[in-house]
Amino acid sequence: MRKDLEGKLVKRFPTWFNVNGDVRHTLMPFGFEHGDGWFNILWRLCADLEPLVAELEKETGERFEVVQVKRKFGTLRFYVSHHTDPIEERIAEAQGESSRTCEVCGQPGKQRETGGGVRARCDEHAHSPEGQ
Ligand SMILES: [Zn+2]
Repeated sequence: MRKDLEGKLVKRFPTWFNVNGDVRHTLMPFGFEHGDGWFNILWRLCADLEPLVAELEKETGERFEVVQVKRKFGTLRFYVSHHTDPIEERIAEAQGESSRTCEVCGQPGKQRETGGGVRARCDEHAHSPEGQ
């Protein structure tokens, strides 16, 4: 994803995305490994997770972190440090949404076989192999 889009998420949720962290602990220094079209899905996901994470951090006294964000088998994967049912459910919802959202432009799409593997693509970007 473009650096300016990544920057918006990191700025809004600074304690979640440890982009300067140790790669033995977090893979976020590698960036968000997917196309720009999923930015809105991510943004809404994070906004909805915020109260759930606040509750979790209050209960456990621990700090929640997102350790990797990438595309896998044509859908968005969002790996986190702490797992509760509500958090898992909301992440699964975003993953489902990503499978129907063009990873290039964010318009409605579907899973298609491209030269680069299975990707979520709209009609216009049906043959675009990469994330941008
Ligand atoms: Zn598209």
